[in-house]
Amino acid sequence: MHYVIIGCGAAGVSAARAIRRFDSSGTITLVSFESQPFYVKPELPDFISGKIRRSTLRRSLKKIQSDPNCNILAGKRVVKVLPEQNSVIFSDGNTLSFNFLLIATGAKPALTPLLVKQREKFFLLRTFADAVRIRAAAKQAKRAVLFGGGYTAIEILRALYNLNLRLTLLTSQELFWTTGITSIYSDMVKNRLTNSQIEVAMDEHLHDILDVDGKSYCAVTSKGRELECDLVVVSMGLRPDIDFVEGSGINVDKGIVVDEQLRTNVSNIYCAGDVAQVIDPKNKLDRINFGWLSAIRQGEVAGKNMAGKEAYYVRNEEPYFIELYGKPVMERW
Ligand SMILES: Cc1cc2nc3c(=O)[nH]c(=O)nc-3n(C[C@H](O)[C@H](O)[C@H](O)COP(=O)(O)OP(=O)(O)OC[C@H]3O[C@@H](n4cnc5c(N)ncnc54)[C@H](O)[C@@H]3O)c2cc1C
Repeated sequence: MHYVIIGCGAAGVSAARAIRRFDSSGTITLVSFESQPFYVKPELPDFISGKIRRSTLRRSLKKIQSDPNCNILAGKRVVKVLPEQNSVIFSDGNTLSFNFLLIATGAKPALTPLLVKQREKFFLLRTFADAVRIRAAAKQAKRAVLFGGGYTAIEILRALYNLNLRLTLLTSQELFWTTGITSIYSDMVKNRLTNSQIEVAMDEHLHDILDVDGKSYCAVTSKGRELECDLVVVSMGLRPDIDFVEGSGINVDKGIVVDEQLRTNVSNIYCAGDVAQVIDPKNKLDRINFGWLSAIRQGEVAGKNMAGKEAYYVRNEEPYFIELYGKPVMERW
């Protein structure tokens, strides 16, 4: 039996562990496009600010790595899934066959078409490599502009604030906090930022980025302000990373559509974590759960089902931010 898991993050690793508990001999292959296969993503902001070291962030996968029937393919990107041939294709043209496939590719930053065109002038934070780049740039910088909102934007601001940068957040009511948190909480976050001398420019968007000399930039806002800065970061929320399954016959909507057992419309293909859109009409569930803990829970459910058990994903009804990994967002400042 060969289980292939695309994604070596919270959901992928949790699934591998669950599979191994119920199938002691099947081969498990975890694939990641990153050269650093596993690290705790919620700790990236603290890595950027220097609060934690690289070695703390990169948790070991000792058990998985010492398992002779478990392989980790790092630095390999899946570009296509072929359900009828039970195989995936990598960007280098090689293929890999599976009996069961788990898609656990997470989410990627959402961008407007205007920003896609300016991509080389700003930073995004999705991976460990992105965090290394932001950290290096921030250490040389005095002033940064962040465009966006939501949980990761606030975390990036916290990281840059701890590096003593002068900060402006360009945002709007819609962007500022989108994940179903009450307006009271949103106001608390806003106050926290302004009390930290972070300028929160409401209803002001990033219009253009002018590269002054390759080291400094001018962020032009929708209100015509020109903000000189050394660093521009964009964080406008996340969207499931599903581009590579389009046209494969696997059902997609906002994410990859799965039932409460996390199975797609293809019986031997499962999906878990930030990329999965769980639809369960009985329990009125139709949502994508972004978050470290729900990715771990979903990975476990998918792994059990792939190994022949019967498990169901039941969403915890607690508000999103209470479920977050680590301290709640406001207690981190
Ligand atoms: C800066 C930041 C801070 C965060 N803080 C928190 C927090 O405090 N609390 C919280 O609950 N959540 C937080 N999150 C969200 C949390 O990290 C994610 O919800 C969680 O990592 C999702 O797990 P996942 O396994 O679905 O995806 P990920 O952990 O993103 O893993 C995706 C994996 O898929 C691989 N991959 C993707 N596409 C391909 C491909 N085509 N081919 C091969 N490999 C591929 C990637 O390399 C990676 O290994 C934060 C996220 C960020 C970016």
